[in-house]
Amino acid sequence: IPGERMSGTPGSDLDKFKWLELHYTDLAGYLRSVTIAAEDLRDNVDVTGFDGSSVEGFTDISDSDLTLRPDLSTLAEIPWLEATGRVISTIYKNGARYERDPRYIAERTEKLLGEQGLEARIGPEIEFHIVDKLYLSVDQPQRGLCYRIVSSEHPGSGSYFEKTKKAYHTPAPFDKVYGLRLELAEVLRKYFRVHVEVHHHEVASGGQIEIDFRYGGVVSASDGVITVKYVARNITARHGYTAIFMPKPFAGDNGNGMHVHISIWERRGNGFRNLFYDPSDGYAELSQYARYFIGGLLEHGRALAAIVAPTVNSYRRLIPGYEAPVYLVWGRSNRSAAIRVPFYGRGAEKSKRIEFRPPDPSANPYLAFTAIIAAGLDGVRKKIEPGDPIDRNVYTMSEAEKKRLGIKELPRSLEEALDELESDNEFLRPYIPSSVLEAYIELKRREARELKGYPSPMEIYTYLSL
Ligand code: GLN
Ligand code: MG
Ligand code: MG
Ligand code: MG
Repeated sequence: IPGERMSGTPGSDLDKFKWLELHYTDLAGYLRSVTIAAEDLRDNVDVTGFDGSSVEGFTDISDSDLTLRPDLSTLAEIPWLEATGRVISTIYKNGARYERDPRYIAERTEKLLGEQGLEARIGPEIEFHIVDKLYLSVDQPQRGLCYRIVSSEHPGSGSYFEKTKKAYHTPAPFDKVYGLRLELAEVLRKYFRVHVEVHHHEVASGGQIEIDFRYGGVVSASDGVITVKYVARNITARHGYTAIFMPKPFAGDNGNGMHVHISIWERRGNGFRNLFYDPSDGYAELSQYARYFIGGLLEHGRALAAIVAPTVNSYRRLIPGYEAPVYLVWGRSNRSAAIRVPFYGRGAEKSKRIEFRPPDPSANPYLAFTAIIAAGLDGVRKKIEPGDPIDRNVYTMSEAEKKRLGIKELPRSLEEALDELESDNEFLRPYIPSSVLEAYIELKRREARELKGYPSPMEIYTYLSL
C-alpha cells in the first residue's frame, strides 16, 4: 500500500510473535489456516488439535481428531499484521504422520528420491489475474464472463487492455498493477524467503501477472506456491482488488498456467550432476535419461491431467490458441507442445531442464509435483521413448497430420481426466497411497458432478431464444 510502512523486520524468531497462523492444504489444495497463541507453542501447550471431518477429503466425522505440527523452518513474519507469524504445518493422526496430508506426500517423494541419490529441482511459473471488481452479472456474455476487470480507480484502464492477448511485458503506466506487483515480489523475498527471480505482466489483458521464483525441492517449491498465492491474495485484497488463480477466468484471452520446470540431479561426490544434460546431443543437449522422463510424462499425461489440471475450469484453458497445451507432444522452444525444452543456446548444464506446461495454479502443488516426478521416473524405469520432437505449431496442424503422427490429446474435461486416472495410476503407487488416491478421485468426481448442474451465463445467452 503506497505510503504505508510494513511493521517489523524479517528473519524473526518465535519470541516476537503473539500469534501464529498454522497453514496447511487440504486434498484439493485449498489453503487452510488456524491461529494459535505463540506462547502456548513456546511453552509446549498442545493447542493444535483440529476437526479433520470439516476439511474436505480428510477424515470421517466418527474419527476426526487430527493435530498440526508447525514446521518452524517455514516461520515468517506477516508484515501487514501485528506480531503475527505464518508457519506451514504438517498433520498428524494418533501421533503418526497423516497419510492424506499433501505435504507429507511431497516429503516422502523427496525422501524416495534421496534414497536413490537423486534430487528434483522444480521451478514453477505462477500466473494469475488481478481484477478490480467482481461483478456477478452477465455484462459481457460474449466473453463468457461473470465479472469485469475495468478499474474504477483507474478510469480508462479498460481502453488499452480491451485488446486481448497483447499485454505481454507491458510496462507501467499501462500496467495498472505494477506497483502492487513490486510490493508483492518485495514482501515475498524479504519476509517469506521466497526468492522471486522474475515477475512481469503476462499476455492476457489488464492485470495478468506472472511470478517466478528460484527452483527448489519438492517440498520447498510447493511451500513456495502456497506462499505466493497466500501473500498475493492478501496484498491484492489490501489494495481493494481480487487475485484470481483460476486457470481460465476470461473467454477469448490467455488463461493462467503453472508451468513446471524440472530437472533430476544425481549426487556425485560432494556435488550434484544434472541427469538431463548431455552436450553430445545436437538437438537440445538433452540426455537419454531426460528423453525417457519425457516419455513417461507423455505416456501418463492424460491421467496426470486430473492432478495437475484438477478443476472443471482447467479444461477451458487447455484449448488451442492461447499458449496452453492441447497435444501430448514435446519440442525445443515449442509453446504449443505439452513439453517444451527451453533452448537459449548451447553449454547449459546448470539450467538444462524441461518445462511441463499442462499444470495450472488450481493444482495442489504437493500432489502435482509428486505426480509429475512419478510419471517421469516411470518413463525412465521402463525406458519409454517420447517419439520425435515436434518443432511446428501443433495448433495449426491438420487433423489428418496429427493422426498420421499419432499425436495424443490431453483430456477435454475433468471427468475425462478422472476416467484416465482411474485406469492409469500404477505409476503413482510408490508415492501416493491408493486410499489417498481414491479419496482424491471421489472428491473431484463430486466437484465435477456438482458444477455440471449449474448453467453458465453463456448458455443462457446462447439458448435463451432457442
Ligand atoms: N498463459 C499461458 C498458459 O496458460 C502461458 C503463456 C506464457 O507463459 N507464455 O499456459
Ligand atoms: Mg514464464
Ligand atoms: Mg507465462
Ligand atoms: Mg513458461
